[in-house]
Amino acid sequence: MATPFVGYAVKEKGSPLELFEYDPAPLGELDIDIQVTHNGLCHTDIHMRDNDWGVSGFPFIPGHEVIGNITQVGHGVKHLSVGDRVGYAWIKDSCGGCGHCVRGYENVCLTGYTGLITAGGHGGWQKTMRAPAKFAFKIPDGLDSISAAPLLCAGVTVYSPIRKYVNRPGVKVGVIGIGGLGHLAIQFAAAVGAEVTAISTSPSKEQEAKDFGATHFVTLDQTEKLTNSFDLIINTVPSKNDYTVQMSFLRVDGTLCIVGLPIDDIRVGVLDVVFNQKKVVGSIVGGSADMQEMLQFAAVKGIKPKCQTMPLSQVNQAIEKLLRNEARYRIVLVSDF
Ligand code: NAP
Ligand code: ZN
Repeated sequence: MATPFVGYAVKEKGSPLELFEYDPAPLGELDIDIQVTHNGLCHTDIHMRDNDWGVSGFPFIPGHEVIGNITQVGHGVKHLSVGDRVGYAWIKDSCGGCGHCVRGYENVCLTGYTGLITAGGHGGWQKTMRAPAKFAFKIPDGLDSISAAPLLCAGVTVYSPIRKYVNRPGVKVGVIGIGGLGHLAIQFAAAVGAEVTAISTSPSKEQEAKDFGATHFVTLDQTEKLTNSFDLIINTVPSKNDYTVQMSFLRVDGTLCIVGLPIDDIRVGVLDVVFNQKKVVGSIVGGSADMQEMLQFAAVKGIKPKCQTMPLSQVNQAIEKLLRNEARYRIVLVSDF
């Protein structure tokens, strides 16, 4: 009989992570096994623990910024080999045939992608992860494993809208929420030539936000300094916040791009949308095209998250630290089975 897999699971909604064993499905011919070494801790893992979006299945093992080394490949896997260092993120499968998938935009697969940790799927907070080879990405040599992990979700999630909406030099970008996603958004936006303002509730983050590439730092309550200022705002806030006010921070024709995922409806004034032609858009992770491009871009430009490491066995303490907004700026969990 095969040895069970072991990891840290959420056994029921909102409960702390506990050691958990399960029998995996047999290795499919298009699957790989990854011996996991590192995992970024994304705020989404906490939303999933708490079933904030109604897509969690219990028990499940979170973790979707996964780095590790391949230990086994199915017979049909041609593009990866045992020993390869790979990353794994939010998406584990998609139809592969729709117009979006064939262009590498599996994040908007027309039949819906399969999430790594949705509906009871097991992610990276385990010793060995078994998953389809199709969504494993080779990590460029120029990126160390700690730095690579947060790029897989936080990185691609902000890279995609920046690539889409920052399409000329001198675009003025505001980043609201300087956490895991936000501190990478500053770096990517600055790297493509935007003038970046960090907008934060934490005055203590000013110097580091400027080190990441922000020209300006403004606290979120200084609305008079922010009015009529931006062509693009990337909002990464995970809890309730005021989108109506943030629309006033945009210039005419500006775009408010929401990537943070509180469980709230978005309310904005119709006059801003019609008379000032302002847009509210969202963006969901990134497909394989953006992922590969973002990893290369980060390696070449030297874009790295600022990380604090903790052992995976201390994942519950790491979650508490993140919820106290004390992470600077991404906690990376190092496997210690
Ligand atoms: P994080 O590291 O906790 O960062 C969030 C930041 O938002 C905090 O550091 C804080 O920055 C700010 N913030 C927190 N509460 C706030 C409040 N009440 N009002 C204003 N600002 C507040 O979280 P993360 O991992 O970056 O994730 C952020 C959000 O993005 C989560 O909701 C996550 O689920 C979502 N997400 C979405 C996607 C996608 O595809 N769309 C992908 C990944 C994650 P300051 O101290 O600077 O204020
Ligand atoms: Zn994430």
